[in-house]
Amino acid sequence: MALPWVRLDANIAAHDKILGLLSDESEDRWQAAASYMFAMAWSGGAGTDGFVRRAALPFVHGTAATAKLLVAYELWDEMPDGYHIRNYAARQELEVVSQAKRAAQRAGALKANCQRFHGKDCGCWRDKLEAV
Ligand SMILES: [Zn+2]
Repeated sequence: MALPWVRLDANIAAHDKILGLLSDESEDRWQAAASYMFAMAWSGGAGTDGFVRRAALPFVHGTAATAKLLVAYELWDEMPDGYHIRNYAARQELEVVSQAKRAAQRAGALKANCQRFHGKDCGCWRDKLEAV
């Protein structure tokens, strides 16, 4: 499942790595900066925990050249089959956390409905939870 949104560092415009990237002489620097932010959103939506496979670069409006710039400025780490957004886990909710939250919400809803419709002492919601 996907995150509907991701967090963006409120100070990103002044971040030293972003400033470094934007002062690069490459004509691709602005596209690289945009694809960095697109990649965070895309990864959250795709539930990849910060991983952008090489084949997914077009989805984040990136190219091999913009990816190379992001690696050079330590915003991405190169992996065997793609890239990883550095510090993604420190800023975004990881997929395993999202799944745990949804499971807890589901359990809470099942319990509330069970007690509302079957009475306070009914525990049938536990059976429904295990059936999933
Ligand atoms: Zn019940």
